[in-house]
This record gives sequence, C-alpha cells and structure tokens, in this order.
Amino acid sequence: MPSGSFGARLMEQIDELASLVERARVIAGFTGAGISTESGVPDFRSPDSPWRRHQPIPFEAFLSSPEARREAWRRKFAMDDIYRDARPSRGHLAIASLINSGKMPAIITQNIDGLQQEAGVPAAKVIELHGNGTYAACLSCRARQELAWIREVFEVTGDPPACPVCGGILKSATISFGQAMPEEAMRRAQELTLACDLFLAIGTSLVVYPAAAFPLIAKQNGGTLVIINREPTDLDAFADLVVRGEIGPVLAPFIGRRD
Ligand SMILES: [Zn+2]
Repeated sequence: MPSGSFGARLMEQIDELASLVERARVIAGFTGAGISTESGVPDFRSPDSPWRRHQPIPFEAFLSSPEARREAWRRKFAMDDIYRDARPSRGHLAIASLINSGKMPAIITQNIDGLQQEAGVPAAKVIELHGNGTYAACLSCRARQELAWIREVFEVTGDPPACPVCGGILKSATISFGQAMPEEAMRRAQELTLACDLFLAIGTSLVVYPAAAFPLIAKQNGGTLVIINREPTDLDAFADLVVRGEIGPVLAPFIGRRD
C-alpha cells in the first residue's frame, strides 16, 4: 500500500503507536521476515519463496553426511547470490533510531540476514534467535569464519573446508532445523521481554515457537503488546494494538526520531 493511500484507520493506529512509543520507558522489539521483505530478502513463508524449493537439511544429517554438507553449502551460496543486493529497509532504520534513542536496549530477531546491523545497530544489541547467515562458525571450537574463503575453497575443490583452527566442521552460523536454540540469545531475549513495558512484534506471523512465546510473556508481565504485521497473526487477540500494514511505511515516521 503506498503511504499516500493510508486509510484513516491505519493512520489512527500509527498515531496510537507513536504515543505508546513516546510514553514507554523500556521497549522490546521483536522482528521477523516481514521487516526484510522491503529489502529484497525473500520471505520463506510466501508461496513462491525460494526457501520452499527444498526440504530443510536436518542438523543431524549435516553432522553425519558429507553429501548433506555439500548440499547445504551449495544452497547457501545460491541463496546468498539471490539477496546479495539486499539493503536495510525503512523498518530496520526505524529500529536503529529507537535503539539510538536509548529506549530500546536491544532488538530480538528471528532473521539471519544481518540487515539490522547494517542499519547501524551494534551487533551486541541484536539478539539473534536463529543465528546469522552472513558468516560461518566451527561447530567444535565456535571460531568465526568468513564466507568468502569458504566459498573459494568449495568452488575449487567441491568440498567445504574444515575449520583452520581445530579441523572441525564449518557451518553457516544459523540455527538449523533440528539444532538447539541458542541459550545465550534465548536468555537475553527473555530478560529484555521481562524488563520492557512496551513490546513491539514487527513483521512476524508469531507461529514459530518458542520464540513466539515472548509477546505473551511480555503481556502476562504487565507490558503493552503491539503487533505490526501485514497479515493477521495468532496473537492479535492478545494485543493492545494491532497495526495491520506494510512495515516500511508504518515505521518510516520513527526514522531519526529521538523520543
Ligand atoms: Zn574449530
């Protein structure tokens, strides 16, 4: 929806959002794929998404099968080519402003695209529940490794390299299907959720548990819950305010604000 054709109802919702943000002391933000669609990152839930072309490779298979690892890296590099030109959206920039204002201590995200950091938020303030796909890590010693040299080796030899530090298996630093949720990120997300008086769920359909429990935890803890999403979500009935619209135009007014 172009911003010029906002309905009166949506304008009211955005005004209400602005006053909730203004009154809040501590804001927890929680983002999903919807904040990155304007950036050109495919939403894996849409029917034509390239993410849907393949069955996910379970973490167990990745660990046990060299062929599964080769297939995982082939897919990874093909996907990287698709969203190589992705840039932060207006939603990412608005979140960066809220964080710079000091009211939002950190952003919790289900996204792996690193665009929130690219929008100017320090990595330490991005709580990544599903990891980060812009680099790799060793599954044994956890050392971070950059994708560029891994890809070079892969393209020359047909095999991903082993960890140069310990010889362990390298994997994109994302949380795969079947892999445990990252404890530290989950703990920090829970802390922020309990500390906030305003919880903003942005661009997420809120169906992926356990992450989707955070909005309810905030609500049960006395916080105000706002859901901003293009589509209805399972938790709309629990929200104090639902803003049904595209993330970019809805959050654009918050870019550069210091309240
Ligand atoms: Zn290692």
